[in-house]
Amino acid sequence: MNRRGLCLVLAAPSGAGKTSLSRALLAGDSRLSLSISATTRAPRDGEQEGVHYFFRTPEQFAGMVAAGEFLEYATVFGRSYGTPRAHVGEMLAAGRDILFDIDWQGFRQLRAALPRDVVGVFIRTSSLEELHRRLVARGDDPAAIAMRMEEAEDELAHQGEFDFIIENNDFDTALGDLSAILRAARLMASRMA
Ligand code: GDP
Ligand code: ADP
Ligand code: 5GP
Repeated sequence: MNRRGLCLVLAAPSGAGKTSLSRALLAGDSRLSLSISATTRAPRDGEQEGVHYFFRTPEQFAGMVAAGEFLEYATVFGRSYGTPRAHVGEMLAAGRDILFDIDWQGFRQLRAALPRDVVGVFIRTSSLEELHRRLVARGDDPAAIAMRMEEAEDELAHQGEFDFIIENNDFDTALGDLSAILRAARLMASRMA
């Protein structure tokens, strides 16, 4: 049966496990591809151009905005992040599913742009203390940790706008829940051609 591809959006306070969960989900699912965002923040250790992000200067990013190249974009932690438009439409038409690792502002814009194709999942931890522990464990610098903790409450305030909420305590349980959501979303009658 043919169907349009869907957009699985993962949002979370920074440190809740969005990146780890997306990597694990993508590794086990050949029909799912990651939307690679452009950002003006600096690469972290091990992050590669065109794999994790397209790393751009603020001037380059502004040029992409002006040229209408983004499906959505937002300022997060004082940096610009955006979803390049080009591949998304093609992949959806071809029936491929796309995973988005974006913030709540991006989720809102994406849902408004593609109202029939977006499934939103919010990832959270059991407490803010646990979130703090993970940011420290990941090696974020103290200033970044302070800013991300401040922003966490703002991100959490929007969890009710999402279709699903996963508490990422045991990683494998959270991954199983996420796979189940994707599997069910693929079977929705409204998505069948
Ligand atoms: P380079 O900048 O010449 O090294 O080449 P890249 O392949 O990294 O990207 C060229 C430009 O196209 C950059 O501005 C990218 O952010 C942008 N770009 C990459 N992928 C896409 C896409 O899927 N859609 C759109 N609209 N722009 C993209
Ligand atoms: P995000 O992309 O949401 O900022 P990451 O995927 O980078 O978060 O995860 C933040 C840190 O927490 C990483 O060091 C990761 O290894 C760790 N982590 C992720 N999920 C769990 C979990 N269920 N239990 C404990 N640590 C976790
Ligand atoms: P990080 O710098 O930790 O990779 O990401 C920081 C925040 O920016 C996360 O909340 C992430 O979801 C968000 N983000 C990453 N890419 C995009 C994007 O293309 N658009 C939007 N709106 N947010 C993004």
